[in-house]
Amino acid sequence: MHIPGLHHITAISGGPQRNYDFYTDILGLRLVKKTVNFDDPQTWHLYYGDEAGSPGTLLTFFPFENASPGRAGTGMASRIGLAVPEDSFSWWVDRISDRVERFDPPAERFGSPVITFQDPDGLLLEIMPLPRVSQLPGWSHGDIPQEHSIRCFANTTLLLDDGAETARLLQVMGYEPLEKDGVFQRFAVKGAPAPGGSDGSDQGGHPVSAPYVDLHIQKTTVGRMGRGTIHHVAFRAENEEGQLKWREALAKAGLRPTQVVDRQYFNSIYFHEPGGVLFELATDPPGMLIDEDKKSLGTGIKLPPWFEENRQWIEERLPELKTKPNTY
Ligand code: ZN
Repeated sequence: MHIPGLHHITAISGGPQRNYDFYTDILGLRLVKKTVNFDDPQTWHLYYGDEAGSPGTLLTFFPFENASPGRAGTGMASRIGLAVPEDSFSWWVDRISDRVERFDPPAERFGSPVITFQDPDGLLLEIMPLPRVSQLPGWSHGDIPQEHSIRCFANTTLLLDDGAETARLLQVMGYEPLEKDGVFQRFAVKGAPAPGGSDGSDQGGHPVSAPYVDLHIQKTTVGRMGRGTIHHVAFRAENEEGQLKWREALAKAGLRPTQVVDRQYFNSIYFHEPGGVLFELATDPPGMLIDEDKKSLGTGIKLPPWFEENRQWIEERLPELKTKPNTY
């Protein structure tokens, strides 16, 4: 049994408009679902991803107009890595330098280039090339051609005081430790590109999406959840049956997974990993196409059945969000 990769990553942002403008116009992601926070339906929950909203590409936000700024600290995911084709990396370095306010010059990590920058709320993002991801669909938006588009997550980075127990858990989840680079250690799903190992394809020969989790081991203070911080990291479960098996295995490993929660687009269980980061295990089915077809993905305000009768009340309270016409 092994986890096939990341499913989605959820972060907290400031106002929804600035978030939408940045992730669509600057990074070229597709808004694939406009729904509400199921635990607070007066708040948006925005999902960005590839053209079909595939697992492994879903970056989601809870935008709060008045959220106070957060700060990543120990026990939190601190960075989100986005994968682009190897030939597109320099195109992205130019674009980030031109269009993004806060960025570091390109650096090298694990022998591969990376550019680190911040979104408008201070969330740390990274773009890095990954072999074979050019075969994944991505999304063509505005002045970003499909060939250069972001294809999927490359990784997420967990900021930890001591990663030993987290490393053990990742191995229970089927991740393999790769090399260390200074304060970073990389863990990879089966088939992930690895030095001297796989070229980045799964057993069926398809490119592996969202393959890495990196640990950043550094003594830091406790962080503060808020605008610009990552709320949780979700991993893929291929189906409900697999999810239940994992639930059992995780409990056996000493973790305390929740009951299965219906998230409309997937079923989820949640647990804190030993370093403190909130993990989720989300099923691939039913997926983003359950209530919109591929063409109209992200265009309607989508509510789960249990909120439909309060639709008008909810829509009146949601902060204004102007989206551009669908270009599919
Ligand atoms: Zn989630």
